[in-house]
Amino acid sequence: MKILVTGGAGYIGSHTTYELIDKGYEVVVVDNLSKGFKSNVHPAATFYEVDLRDEKSLENIFEKEKNIKAVMHFAGSIVVPESVFKPLEYFNNNVYSVEILLKTMNKFNVKTFVFSSTAAVYGEPKTNPITENDELKPINPYGDSKLSAELLIKGWAKAHKANYVIFRYFNVAGTNKNGKIGIKGEVLTHLVPVVIDAALNPEKTMNIFGDNYKTKDGSCIRDFIHVVDLAIAHIIGLEWSIKNNKSNIFNVGSSTGYSVLEVLNQAKKSLNIEIKSKIVDRRPGDPAILLASTAKIEKELNWKPQKTLDEIIKSEFNFRKNWSNK
Ligand code: UDP
Repeated sequence: MKILVTGGAGYIGSHTTYELIDKGYEVVVVDNLSKGFKSNVHPAATFYEVDLRDEKSLENIFEKEKNIKAVMHFAGSIVVPESVFKPLEYFNNNVYSVEILLKTMNKFNVKTFVFSSTAAVYGEPKTNPITENDELKPINPYGDSKLSAELLIKGWAKAHKANYVIFRYFNVAGTNKNGKIGIKGEVLTHLVPVVIDAALNPEKTMNIFGDNYKTKDGSCIRDFIHVVDLAIAHIIGLEWSIKNNKSNIFNVGSSTGYSVLEVLNQAKKSLNIEIKSKIVDRRPGDPAILLASTAKIEKELNWKPQKTLDEIIKSEFNFRKNWSNK
């Protein structure tokens, strides 16, 4: 079965491509390489360096490849603070590209769409763990753009008798066993890569953004999910949708919260390395706790995360060590 993966040169798209190919799928990757890396694209995938907003080129791909059964859409802009300064760019890249994709799918009668969404659609949650039915109230243009895309996808599916599976990600981290694919950029903002970067560079001190939140140790609590567990959830969701001719929305997390300080301490323990840190001011816009309820995905898709925080940390370390040597 042939699957078109957008953003297959990026972090989650490349990991999902690896899992798909492992399971015998044929994969066509479309990526404009604005953030992705060609070296992340699985060697067995067919790769097109194309921007999704280039409608004609996208049509040519569907035409040439024929028999695309489903689209898994990972390409998009994901940096929250940047979205505050560039809302037009975020809507253009995260919503308009979905419109073009869906339009093209209509032309070629492709009826299954799997979409990367985010816990940012919930904004600052009133209660934790967060369920899929909780209020959707994003607090930044990134979350707004992902929610807008979700609404567009729902409307499309209804009008065109098609199906979607939308996954709302919590904190994704780690890399797969080969240790060669991942986020290779130097600008690190997410907690696990920042901790690993400080572990690899003893001259660096990582910042802990706030220790006065109403949590057990004062630092924020997040729900970490290994990227391979996430990739597998996508494939199970894809197969479920095709088999049952159904649509759905799922949180993907682990239902387990770790504080920033716990992540740091786990890294010191897992890697047996001293990591320098200091407490600094809170980062604007950080909710104290973000925790997924995964009851729905466990029940409907029979999916549960298999990997621990220790595995997330060790795999990320393995990858960053290789990458920083290049
Ligand atoms: N964080 C931190 N230091 C860093 C990066 C992140 O203390 O260098 C904290 C951040 O304030 C938040 C948590 O780690 O409480 C997770 O942040 P991240 O950016 O990884 O993901 P988010 O939950 O914002 O999507």
